[in-house]
Amino acid sequence: MVKDDCIFCKIVSGEIESNKVYEDEHIVAFEDLNPMMPVHTLIIPKDHYDNIADNIPDETMAHIMQTVGKIADIKGIRESGFRVIVNTNDDACQSVHHIHVHVLGGGKMNDGDPSL
Ligand code: 5GP
Ligand code: ZN
Repeated sequence: MVKDDCIFCKIVSGEIESNKVYEDEHIVAFEDLNPMMPVHTLIIPKDHYDNIADNIPDETMAHIMQTVGKIADIKGIRESGFRVIVNTNDDACQSVHHIHVHVLGGGKMNDGDPSL
């Protein structure tokens, strides 16, 4: 499933370049274009879903969340700590409407930081 004019679908297809951190059959993780922290990686399913409430199959969502630990290992932030954020729709300032999980770390965060 691909949505026309979705920039993350274009990252999946390779039409838009990205710095990939991890990829398998179902998901891809890549560096955020405008990092809010020293580590700022996005994990997305290759299939298009608008957001976390868009009837994502359980196995796909589980796979995305299981990959968080893998990204933390790759980036070396498992022990130091990290934050996982999924912005959803307007009140949460979701700007790309292809579900993505932010993995943020590499520095000390305060309560509520970063405000993505
Ligand atoms: P949101 O605000 O929707 O939760 O997060 C969208 C994120 O996607 C932002 O942090 C933004 O920097 C990132 N982003 C937007 N366009 C691109 C792009 O073309 N490439 C990459 N790597 N990240 C992008
Ligand atoms: Zn998409």
